[in-house]
Amino acid sequence: MIVILGAGESGVGSAILAKAKGFDVFVSDMSAIKPQYKQELLSRNIDFEEKQHSMKKILDAELVIKSPGIPEKAPVVKALREQGTEIISEIEFAGRYCKAKTICITGSNGKTTTTMLTYHILSEAGYNVALAGNVGKSFAWQVAEQDFDYYVIELSSFQLDGMYRFRADVAILLNITPDHLDRYEYKFQNYIDSKFRILQNMGSEQHFIFWNDDPVICAEMRKRNPGMALHPFSDGNIEGCSAWVKDDKLTIEKIALTMNTDSITIKGRHNMYNSMAAGIAAALVGIDKDTIRHAFETFLGVEHRLEYVATIRGVRYINDSKATNVNSCWYALQSMKTPVVLILGGTDKGNDYSEILDLVREKVHTLVFMGLDNKKLNDFFRANTSCRIIDTDNLDDAVQACYDSAHDGDTVLLSPCCASFDLFKNYENRGELFKEAVRKL
Ligand code: ADP
Repeated sequence: MIVILGAGESGVGSAILAKAKGFDVFVSDMSAIKPQYKQELLSRNIDFEEKQHSMKKILDAELVIKSPGIPEKAPVVKALREQGTEIISEIEFAGRYCKAKTICITGSNGKTTTTMLTYHILSEAGYNVALAGNVGKSFAWQVAEQDFDYYVIELSSFQLDGMYRFRADVAILLNITPDHLDRYEYKFQNYIDSKFRILQNMGSEQHFIFWNDDPVICAEMRKRNPGMALHPFSDGNIEGCSAWVKDDKLTIEKIALTMNTDSITIKGRHNMYNSMAAGIAAALVGIDKDTIRHAFETFLGVEHRLEYVATIRGVRYINDSKATNVNSCWYALQSMKTPVVLILGGTDKGNDYSEILDLVREKVHTLVFMGLDNKKLNDFFRANTSCRIIDTDNLDDAVQACYDSAHDGDTVLLSPCCASFDLFKNYENRGELFKEAVRKL
């Protein structure tokens, strides 16, 4: 019997695939299962329970597929580990039955953007391609019921942790900066190792695309010396690279594409990295230069990532609600070409704000804090900058404060460095309410 822990999109997808492959399946979720998912399980005669874990039945499983959201410290996971039951992720399970080629994308920041851009290029090229992983529909569900030639898969470190036999055809590693350390015993190396699992089982026929200017990735590559085809990309450094940006031009060597970075729709230095990674991957699966160039010129970007909202009285409003850590805010600020009013705050994950201090001093004239507890922000920025500072504990006040302090030609940027759970359901909810409040101004 296969037991599936967690009946969200990936759990239900896994159940459907397992059933299709002839396994006995039991789905167990500690919370209430969403009605639409219950319906899917019922209509396929798949056995399930909610709001409990029947330990005896679960411990009988020959294989467990665990949702990446369930932590190692959950009692049910501990009990399974103790008796040595094999626990895998949805991606690992679906990978065992997937005949399509996979392009897998991981990194601390930029995963969704790069995944969506890669998908956009393959779709524009007319490929029979689907999205999976953290975005789109469940990988397992699609493997069970559809027939794609390519999957573009966004992988978090949590998903990678549950992968063993899986092998990507093309792997992209964008960058590694400290994140989620609470799940990795506060050891950065554990998190690095988790990210490098994306290379597992790859040989000389497979491809690895990575950011060559990232010191963490470079140090790790020297240690590991992996054997697949390597495709580094870089900002300025051409030597040995498959793609680079130099003098505001982006080049992808394999297809001899050189284009002005200005004509790429997504902006900022970080998005040039994401574009290089997606462009190399697309070239490797056989897409030509003109299609890739055209796709770069037409990609609409992803909601809540440096998303343009509106211009009001000459002030541009940008929603970067997805910037839930300091590093992504750094890239957002770095791409700003006007004076900035910056909204920061939320649930702090152990942030070190000194990383953005130089950019704040250079570009930001007003900081608006938006959170239930702004003490750490106040202490740090009052001591280290001469910015005007406005303290708020709700979105409407924060947006109003921005409106009052921004001048013609400025940008108001929501790029809060923090998780959103003190005031919002999630970052999407924060971004949506921000956009609504701006449009009401
Ligand atoms: P992820 O899926 O890894 O969280 P996203 O594509 O959703 O990444 O982008 C999240 C935020 O990270 C964006 O708002 C942007 O500010 C920042 N970002 C995007 N790409 C990069 C990159 N390559 N390097 C650093 N920061 C990035």
